[in-house]
Amino acid sequence: CLLPKASAPAVTHAEKSGRRKTLAPQELNKGSKRLSCVVKPPDMQTKRGKFGEASRPNQKFYDMIQDFRETLEVTPLSTTDRIEPQKISVCVRKRPLNKQEIIKKEIDVVSVPGKGVLLVHEPKHKVDLTKYLENQVFHFDYSFDETTTNDLVYKFTAKPLVQSVFEGGMATCFAYGQTGSGKTHTMGGDFIGKQQNSTKGIYAFAAQDVFTYLNHRRYANLELSAYVSFFEIYNGKVYDLLNKKAKLRVMEDDRQQVQVVGLEEVYVSTAEEVIKMIQMGSACRTSGQTSANANSSRSHAVLQIVLRRNDRATTLHGKFSLVDLAGNERGTDVSSNDRSTLVETAEINRSLLALKECIRSLGMNSDHIPFRMSTLTKVLRDSFIGEKSRICMESVVDSSVYDAMAQVAELEEKAYVELKAVDDFVKA
Ligand code: ADP
Ligand code: MG
Repeated sequence: CLLPKASAPAVTHAEKSGRRKTLAPQELNKGSKRLSCVVKPPDMQTKRGKFGEASRPNQKFYDMIQDFRETLEVTPLSTTDRIEPQKISVCVRKRPLNKQEIIKKEIDVVSVPGKGVLLVHEPKHKVDLTKYLENQVFHFDYSFDETTTNDLVYKFTAKPLVQSVFEGGMATCFAYGQTGSGKTHTMGGDFIGKQQNSTKGIYAFAAQDVFTYLNHRRYANLELSAYVSFFEIYNGKVYDLLNKKAKLRVMEDDRQQVQVVGLEEVYVSTAEEVIKMIQMGSACRTSGQTSANANSSRSHAVLQIVLRRNDRATTLHGKFSLVDLAGNERGTDVSSNDRSTLVETAEINRSLLALKECIRSLGMNSDHIPFRMSTLTKVLRDSFIGEKSRICMESVVDSSVYDAMAQVAELEEKAYVELKAVDDFVKA
């Protein structure tokens, strides 16, 4: 049933950069060019979906996807897989359908067969109205399926950066994606209902590793101490999450050093103390909000673990910034008449664009980092300069039929995969 599509799909921006193709499952590992898989709709009388009901609006597509998945060769990531240290890495994590989506019988259109690949199954009709699936292939450094734990995500994303901080570098790990796709879950810890388990997020795992390294004899002679700060950037303003959301000023001196004036930086001696700070800051972040995802999804939260030498000036040695970015909502707010929402959206878009530009400059080892474009990039300025800067972009996507395609396309085109291509190009 696998046929090359009669007319090739339009070449997208991402395809031009060589990172996105439409392939049949057998072709996945062969690097073949654009083909799409035509799967005939199964007989509705005999074939039933995973949940047993044949009444789903898009049942035929659902069955086609299930049939396609059966043909996929899956190589899941495991804790023993090798991790290549990189200056910029881009990963993607798929969120499973939630209860409501299952009740609404939404279709999971994303498959993660492993090896950094993520597939989006797109329902299509031919001119004669025959239904077929177009399977778009996206490539990342690592791709995590819906069963992946935060623990494993950490191992392949933020963990490799901890060492660089001890070696005097600046490392930054971003969670990027739409509201509801799992940024806070990944960074701050699993939710059990509305309760978040702060010991099971990337923030906490990073803190634990920082103290493991601090106590390691290899780094003992550096005489380092760890400090934590936690702040939020909302509409271009900085608020201290460790100090009752005090509003802080961002200042730049004549040597272009950027400072957040008055930011609390708390000395910490154990991972448990960091976790307490995370809980305190997260509670502060969401307090006073009417709906669970209101302002917190419209702001960037930045947790920094800073290493300083135990000298008189407590000289900066290295810094690890872990950023839960504001939701990169796609067009949904454009129709809003609410002025403050429009201003918020414009500010978020501006800061995400600025971030992209800064990462691009870092990838190209450019001397010019356009950090002044937004508050986010201003406060992260020192993370974008120098040989020892490391970036990990951890994107999260949900998988329902309405959104996944656009979300992943967005990740590739508007966000960071092309940056990765730039990075590869520079290395080559
Ligand atoms: P965001 O911060 O991107 O807006 P959240 O992290 O708040 O999204 O996640 C939205 C909901 O989805 C939460 O209830 C969370 O527990 C759930 N969720 C997110 N990612 C996963 C995952 N990988 N596995 C299970 N549930 C998840
Ligand atoms: Mg969130």
